[in-house]
Amino acid sequence: MKEKLREAIRAVAEKEGRLVVLTGAGISAESGIPTFRGPEGYWTVGSKEYRPEEMATFAMFSRNPDEVWQWYLYRLGVCRKGEPNAGHRAVVEMERLLGDRFLLLTQNVDGLHLRAGNTLERTFQIHGNIEFMRCAADCTRDFFPLPESVATKTKDEPLTDADRAALVCPRCGGRSRPHVLWFDECYDEEHYRFNSSIQAAVAADMLLSVGTSGATNLPMQVGAIASQKNALLVDVNPDSNPFSTMAEGSGGFFCQGPAGDILPEFVDLFAP
Ligand code: NAD
Ligand code: ZN
Repeated sequence: MKEKLREAIRAVAEKEGRLVVLTGAGISAESGIPTFRGPEGYWTVGSKEYRPEEMATFAMFSRNPDEVWQWYLYRLGVCRKGEPNAGHRAVVEMERLLGDRFLLLTQNVDGLHLRAGNTLERTFQIHGNIEFMRCAADCTRDFFPLPESVATKTKDEPLTDADRAALVCPRCGGRSRPHVLWFDECYDEEHYRFNSSIQAAVAADMLLSVGTSGATNLPMQVGAIASQKNALLVDVNPDSNPFSTMAEGSGGFFCQGPAGDILPEFVDLFAP
C-alpha cells in the first residue's frame, strides 16, 4: 500500500474521525453473486431479454408480477448460496474497531454484511433486503420475512399456486412485493434510510467506497457531499468509475483491485 494512503488513513484514525463505508455489488462478486454489469445480468420473459434496469422496476412488476418474483426468488437462491468473503470480514473488523464512529451504507440486497457480523444498527441497507417482502399496495409500511414455504427458483422454474398464495401482504391479503428499491422508485427514510445516509455523508471524515459503479442516485450524492466536506475519499474497485474519479479529483486515493485483497490491508490502520 502507498505510504501516503497509509498516512492519510492513520490521520483520520488518530483524530478519532468518522468512517462511512459505502458498498456496491462488487464487494459480493467474490462471494459468487454477480454484479449487474456482467453477462449474468439478463433475464428472459417470454421471448424477450431484459436488463436489470428494466426488470427491477415497479412498472415491470405491475405488468408481470410472477416473472419479477421468479427473478427475485432465483437471485435469492444465489444470495443464500454465497458466503461472506474477506472484504465483508474486513468491514466487520472496521466496525469492531471504530464502534459509533463507523457506518455502513450498502446498496446490496444480499444481506451478506449482516451475515458477516456487521450490526443492523450501523448498517443502512439503502436498497432493501431480498429476504423481505412488503405490501405492493402500501397498506402498511412494515416489511416481513419471506414465508419459509416459498422456495428459491432455478432460472426456468415458474411460481407455483402455493407460492402465489404465500406471497401476499400479511395485513390486507393483497399481493406482496420484494422489499427492494426499484429503478423507477424514490428513496425514503423509513425503508431506505435516505436522510440518515445524507447526514452520515455530512459528518464523515473518510468515505471508503467499494465495488460500486455509481449508477444510482443516493450513493453519488453521498460521494459528492463527503467530497465537498473535505472528507478523505478512498475508492476500491478493479475498474475506474465515478467514485475513483471523485477520489482522485479531491486528493483522495483509488485502490485498483478486488475488495477481498485490498480491504483486509486497511483494517489495522483503524486500530487505536
Ligand atoms: P454494479 O453492478 O453497477 O457495479 C459493480 C461494481 O463492482 C463495478 O464498478 C465493478 O467494477 C465492481 N467490482 C467487480 N468485482 C469487484 C471486486 N471483486 N471488488 C470490488 N469491486 C468489484 O453495482 P452497484 O453499483 O452496486 O449498483 C447496481 C444495483 O444493483 C444496486 O442498486 C444494487 O442494489 C443491485 N445489486 C445488488 C447485488 C447484491 O446484493 N449483491 C448484486 C447485483 C446488483
Ligand atoms: Zn397490504
